[in-house]
Amino acid sequence: MKLSLVVPCYNEEDVIYNFYKETKRVFENKVESYEFVFVNDGSKDKTLETLKAIHKVSDNVKVISFSRNFGKEAAMYAGLCKAVGDYTCVIDADLQQRPEVVLEMMNILDSDSSVDCVAAYQAERKEGKGVSFLKKGFYKLMNFISEVEFYPGASDFRLMRRKMVDEVVKLTEYHRFSKGLFSFVGFNTKFIPYEVQQRAAGESKWSITKLFIYAVEGIVGYTTAPLKLSTFAGLGMIVAAFLYLVFALIIGAVNADFSENIAVITLLLLIGGIQLVFLGIIGEYLARAYMQGKNRPIYITKEFLTYEEEKEEE
Ligand code: UDP
Ligand code: MG
Repeated sequence: MKLSLVVPCYNEEDVIYNFYKETKRVFENKVESYEFVFVNDGSKDKTLETLKAIHKVSDNVKVISFSRNFGKEAAMYAGLCKAVGDYTCVIDADLQQRPEVVLEMMNILDSDSSVDCVAAYQAERKEGKGVSFLKKGFYKLMNFISEVEFYPGASDFRLMRRKMVDEVVKLTEYHRFSKGLFSFVGFNTKFIPYEVQQRAAGESKWSITKLFIYAVEGIVGYTTAPLKLSTFAGLGMIVAAFLYLVFALIIGAVNADFSENIAVITLLLLIGGIQLVFLGIIGEYLARAYMQGKNRPIYITKEFLTYEEEKEEE
């Protein structure tokens, strides 16, 4: 098997068949052997029915269906586990990422054996200025504080050689942040620009809140810098408190009306606030250790349809 396409799907009934048809058309006579590994991530619409219908009429489609919505990260992981191709590509179901780009990625891996992975990054962002600004800031911060490198604008849309996929699936952490995992396993990754298309149908599942939670995942998953930050902040505050004391004594000596109470209350609030923030940060790390300690599965499969089984039955 030359290529596996891992496709996470959550409520994609409007677009999934289109994706399948379009990819087949683009790959025709260009890719010798490939498989689709669709992961139905607990969709509440007719996605699973459509996938089953596609599975019925094809001989290269696998469908993993989760028992509930576990999130895109879990869906990608499940897909990577079931993919058997020499090359494996993670691609969204909504045709925002064109199958033509997969051909381009394959050409690079075919022609340059030193490259292990081709990752696409968004050449031009088609999102709002605010979101784009926040995302850029996030990458800058991450690269500054984390030991693994994050390429700005890189998505999960990438083609990997088997040896890299094998390493990625060995990482079985519960809280997953693929951009970090891909970077963590190393290997030689080439970044190519691609143009994100408009969603063919349906709507995006990402809200600002979800993106924020995802960003926290990235930070807490890949660096313990925030924990160190509290030590520095604490030291800084001790110095500041000392300076304030000197300042209050001097002003108090010349101006008896100096309203010390207000200053004291402000300081108390500030210190209280900072303490709560760092308690929260410690909590985030603790929560991860706690969840990992439970050793819960990353996803639970309800149904798995594969083409190999059918061939054996024949
Ligand atoms: N997705 C998923 N589980 C989720 C959310 C999304 O499998 O809980 C899939 C979704 O079906 C799509 C891909 O992840 O194939 C990217 O999602 P979406 O298009 O909503 O994200 P965007 O392109 O807006 O970043
Ligand atoms: Mg999308």
